[in-house]
Amino acid sequence: MVLRGPCRSRGAAQVKDLCFQHDPRCGQLCADAGCQKEHLDTLQEADAERLDRALQAWQTRKKKSEKDACAKESGVPDRCDILMKTPCSMLRSDLPLPPGLFEVPWYYDMRWHQRAMSAQLISSCSFLAHSSLWSCIPRLRRYREIHPDQRPIFAAELGRLCGRSLPHRGVLCVEKPYLQGFVEGLAETVTVEFILLAVNGGDAPLTLHQQEQIALLPGLQACFAMNLHTALDALCSHLLQLVLSNCKGRNLIFLMTSSI
Ligand SMILES: [Zn+2]
Repeated sequence: MVLRGPCRSRGAAQVKDLCFQHDPRCGQLCADAGCQKEHLDTLQEADAERLDRALQAWQTRKKKSEKDACAKESGVPDRCDILMKTPCSMLRSDLPLPPGLFEVPWYYDMRWHQRAMSAQLISSCSFLAHSSLWSCIPRLRRYREIHPDQRPIFAAELGRLCGRSLPHRGVLCVEKPYLQGFVEGLAETVTVEFILLAVNGGDAPLTLHQQEQIALLPGLQACFAMNLHTALDALCSHLLQLVLSNCKGRNLIFLMTSSI
């Protein structure tokens, strides 16, 4: 496979392509003795960022050309449209903070986003990075730092903010421990269609009660949850029907990673 880094003209001189096979921070060194590309020392932060940026730009170009080719061939739009066309998440300063003093910031920054977007495997991180409002969602696993009594209050504020901030249909990703509060807050403000990803949060399953609440959310097109209770009534299939009826032809899954 030929990997091309960015190739920019600087006057008459060409900037060398970057070698993506060479990434010392991952213990990966280019094995091609004749490689003409530039090898960055990614143990240095600036070089690591440069390689990440180049890799991301390359992946974006590659994805786009594959999508274009696929659309041309089949005559139908790409099935992952809804994820790719969700609004850009902007960094903002009006995000809620839980009570307490915390050394680590509560929200992710662009640097995290670049790294998370270059991930090749599915994880809570990559779900969040691909969601519409990733910069408005607390860093993963921080919910443990909030007193359980305070969590729904914080989550409700978060839900209201997310509902207000979704200008077009999009994908929201939130950890399950925030659902209590988040769902109520979101219901107050959301006015557009969206898909909810309920991720992570330990082994606690998405309970029937939570499924009921989620199913009532205005604008909900589908919910993807890691680990949920099997519905005793038709609710789960109701959600499943929502997926099937509203997301026809789109590549969406109501995933049961395990049922209890
Ligand atoms: Zn090389």
